[in-house]
Amino acid sequence: RQHEKIRNFACIAHVDHGKSTLCDRMLEMTGTIPPAAISRDQPEQEAKNEQVLDTLKVERERGITVRAQSATMFHRHTDGQEYMLNLIDTPGHVDFASEVLRSLLASQGVILLVDAAQGVQAQTLTVLDEALKRNLTVVGAVNKWDLVKDDGRGEAVLNELSDLLACDPGEILRISAKTGWGVESVLDAVVERIPPPPPAPPATATTDKEPFRGLVFDSWYDSFRGVVSLVSVFEGEVKKGDSITSSITGNDYTVLDLGILSPREVSIAEHPDANSRALRKGMAGWVVCGMKNPKDAFLGDTFHLTSRPTPPLESFKPLKSMVFAGIYPLDPGGFTKLEEAIRRLTLTDRSVTSNRESSTFLGQGFRLGFNGSLHMDVFRQRLEDEFGEEVIVTRPLVPVKLTFKDGTERTIDNPADFPDPGGLLKVVRVQEPMIRATIVAPDEYTGAIINLCTSHRGVPLSHTYLSSSAATSSSTASSTALKPRVTMLYSLPLSSIITSFHSALKSISSGFASFDYEEAPYEDSDLCRMNILVNGQKVDALCTVAHRSEVQKEGREWAKRLREVIPRQQHEVVIQAAVGSTILARERIAPFRKDVTAGLYGGHYERKMKHLAKQKAGKARLKERSIGRITIPTEAFHAVLGGQ
Ligand code: GDP
Ligand code: MG
Repeated sequence: RQHEKIRNFACIAHVDHGKSTLCDRMLEMTGTIPPAAISRDQPEQEAKNEQVLDTLKVERERGITVRAQSATMFHRHTDGQEYMLNLIDTPGHVDFASEVLRSLLASQGVILLVDAAQGVQAQTLTVLDEALKRNLTVVGAVNKWDLVKDDGRGEAVLNELSDLLACDPGEILRISAKTGWGVESVLDAVVERIPPPPPAPPATATTDKEPFRGLVFDSWYDSFRGVVSLVSVFEGEVKKGDSITSSITGNDYTVLDLGILSPREVSIAEHPDANSRALRKGMAGWVVCGMKNPKDAFLGDTFHLTSRPTPPLESFKPLKSMVFAGIYPLDPGGFTKLEEAIRRLTLTDRSVTSNRESSTFLGQGFRLGFNGSLHMDVFRQRLEDEFGEEVIVTRPLVPVKLTFKDGTERTIDNPADFPDPGGLLKVVRVQEPMIRATIVAPDEYTGAIINLCTSHRGVPLSHTYLSSSAATSSSTASSTALKPRVTMLYSLPLSSIITSFHSALKSISSGFASFDYEEAPYEDSDLCRMNILVNGQKVDALCTVAHRSEVQKEGREWAKRLREVIPRQQHEVVIQAAVGSTILARERIAPFRKDVTAGLYGGHYERKMKHLAKQKAGKARLKERSIGRITIPTEAFHAVLGGQ
């Protein structure tokens, strides 16, 4: 019964509670990777945290996990048997929720980590919800126990978690992922508490062997081998040379190589412990099958043997892009280079959608769709880090649904497509996407958080105390150790949280509030399009869609910001923010004064012109765009849009 020695599990937690560190420790303890150069005797700063599974540069820099990474390890349990553990490290941010869901789909259980100093946080609740919805076995662990002092706080967090899981506090593991203390108990709990993948149905008389069915739950592109697919084998087995078929495209492929992640790709033929030439039922591993076009790789696809067709496995909904923005090269001549960079980057991040667009002002560019604003930020940073591409990102927009009088519907992702007041007469319904937000914070910040949510058009749904923290606050021993904390659920428009909400929440709660959200259905909304006009001409790259109650304030802010960044010109510059023909704000930049120009055309004119010419040439690239007679340095737009 091979499958009984397999465990597929994921690690879930609020960001920074220690998932990646725990994964590294488990890989070391099972001998999958050599122990990192950490020594407990060495001073703190010399301790090196490798975080093997976080391989992207931005992941290392920001300390966040963007891509779910998998690794297979072999663990000899106290029962003397060797188990194959397939671990999936999950990303720690809601923007990458699709990655979390994928990893849950391929698992039978999860380790839920909670930081001993921080206790249960917003994301602890949302990821736990997902795991419970899928009936996964949850093993609770309180991490960073090395930091726990003798003040009852660690115990209080332990109780908080056992309340949440409705289990005995004794079942919650105490560990320090950093020092490795208690990590062995995690490996044991995985073997003992998480069930193996479901067993094969009994063989019938006609089919001696179960046909292969595998779910594609991740894929990436390799320039030599083409698409590498990560496959979770639900039934049967697959080996080198097999002919397999994609349920979605119907294309046939030959398996050229396959193996496990350990955590680097190891071909199954070369792995000493794999003890088999096939990816068997219950295993998760990579498959290379000569798929050359990344467009043929679909997450959620089912592979089956070409000779033994089977119905596709129930798969997950592909995640839709929820935040769109225009991306333009900072350098007006840089379109071709940017196009190549975006093409290559979207091969590694398949969740980004991309379409060409052009702006009369910024020229040729792209409209890209992201899972959320952090996702967008990470993509922009990767363009810069990995391709040296500096870009202008226009103000992000969530998808907006319009229903017209004639019954047709349209979802727009570009503010320029939103009708002006005249066009809106033909629209009977405008809807925007909502979210269900979870906020966890000490209760002293409740008032400030309510105000923040209200000012972002939030509607409260519920307000509850985290049970054990409320309970411990009344007991004298730990009253100072853990303040009573509340969980607030709010309905908010997605658009209101994609810009400044997170940072505002952090600052009003001195960093103590945590936040996470789930998508909720669209709701009716009174939105309108705001145009920015420079000397009467619309600047398409600067138009935005905003709620009518907020548009006045936004208009004033935008006009003011633009006044600050547009340099003086020979002519007067008038900046206006408007909805239709209604002017919301107006700012003016006076032209150069006569005497300034006079000075320029004075005795030193020739020398000055030479100097200017030299300066221009000296600048590697002169980056500016113009509207009519007004010249605007592109950096100015960068500043306005970047400062949202
Ligand atoms: P993730 O976001 O959940 O993947 O968290 P990381 O594994 O990146 O850890 C976040 C931070 O907490 C890092 O600076 C780790 O070094 C630190 N950390 C993780 N586990 C422990 C622990 O057991 N003790 C202490 N003191 N720090 C830890
Ligand atoms: Mg991480």
